[in-house]
Amino acid sequence: MGLDEDALDYHASDPPGKVEISTTKPTNTQRDLSLAYSPGVAAPCRKIADDPENAFKYTTKGNMVGVVSNGSAVLGLGDIGAQAAKPVMEGKGVLFKRFADIDVFDIELDQASADELVETVSAMEPTFGGINLEDIKAPECFEVETRLREEMDVPVFHDDQHGTAIISGAALLNAAEIADKDLDDLEVVFSGAGASAIATAKFYVSLGVQRENVTMCDSSGVITEDRDVNDFKAEFAQPAGEGGDLADAMAGADVFVGLSVGGIVSQEMVQSMADDPIVFAMANPDPEIDYEAAKQARDDTVIMATGRSDYPNQVNNVLGFPFIFRGALDVRATDINEDMKVAAAEALADLAKQDVPDEVVKAYGDQPLQFGSEYIIPKPLDPRVLFEVAPAVAVAAMESGVARTNLDPEQYREELEA
Ligand code: NAP
Ligand code: MG
Repeated sequence: MGLDEDALDYHASDPPGKVEISTTKPTNTQRDLSLAYSPGVAAPCRKIADDPENAFKYTTKGNMVGVVSNGSAVLGLGDIGAQAAKPVMEGKGVLFKRFADIDVFDIELDQASADELVETVSAMEPTFGGINLEDIKAPECFEVETRLREEMDVPVFHDDQHGTAIISGAALLNAAEIADKDLDDLEVVFSGAGASAIATAKFYVSLGVQRENVTMCDSSGVITEDRDVNDFKAEFAQPAGEGGDLADAMAGADVFVGLSVGGIVSQEMVQSMADDPIVFAMANPDPEIDYEAAKQARDDTVIMATGRSDYPNQVNNVLGFPFIFRGALDVRATDINEDMKVAAAEALADLAKQDVPDEVVKAYGDQPLQFGSEYIIPKPLDPRVLFEVAPAVAVAAMESGVARTNLDPEQYREELEA
């Protein structure tokens, strides 16, 4: 209750909302104004008309991301519509600015169909160096992102899918190392087959998990080839004879990934898993099983992550999108591809193995932050995340051929640290 009241006051205090536009060039004299606008502004217009790449030199395009939503799957609130989604999209802009100094226009669209969204968003390409799709429901979100990536020459990234995939992917790399298990042997069970689960399962396969070792459950249980499901779920279908419920699927599994609803996993289900199980219970605000309940279910080590900030190993998308877009924008990337996503996850995983600076330890209440089952991914307020992830993403973009400019990674890193 107190938080709700405070949040309303926070948003309503003058001026309403959380962002404003500010100018970056002098506007004091008649001459300044004739440079900023007519007649001087015609000169950069002509340069860009001659070569569209010049938009990166003479406009905000190269540091500007569009956060685009139709409000069809907002937080845990569901389909509340585009207007009601605006506080979330403004908030996303706040995080882009705070963590990576990226400017955002939030764009809320009263459009439900994939065709409408694709047409509108692709027409906005001149404005933006990248598009962050946000809170668009499954399964339309898959089609919208796929088509926009094909049509647009700037990166298009649906954060609800890939943010979770990349951050929990980093957690998986380290959890597997701590549990001394190889990725290509892991038996992985998903609860949930929506936007985040489908993308996360695909990403784990990119990291080295075998597709046939992934068992995916939706609200009707294990997805099997004889069930009538959408194409995205069908990609992870098990053979017809291997159906059952979530409890059946979890018996003997190495990894549980929850991207569904709170409270549906029991201690018995965790007890039925393989040695040193990995349990990522990421439903918000309540995980599929509570942190303590999962830990206490067994005598061996349960490597646990949740979406919550009050327990170790919070899978929080803010560890990803600001830095991934920073790296992509700084090489004027045309895409955020699989290599860049894998590079981001590996950079996050590596960073968790380094000593944590005192100021970061202090910011998190002086709890020891040392690589191990209680610390498998970095903390969002760790300033090193920017210096590690953005260069890794930029290098992956250059090496995979989607960068329009090249940069020297060491020099770039120093510039970010400055
Ligand atoms: P979504 O697209 O709506 O998908 C939800 C999925 O959960 C659907 O596949 C649904 O099954 C399934 N489901 C519902 N009830 C279930 C049950 N009782 N047992 C098994 N599966 C059930 O939602 P989403 O965006 O992927 O998000 C899913 C959850 O993950 C949310 O709680 C969200 O807050 C959380 N999440 C957390 C993070 C994070 O921690 N960083 C990031 C993203 C999402 P049907 O397909 O049969 O309807
Ligand atoms: Mg979201």
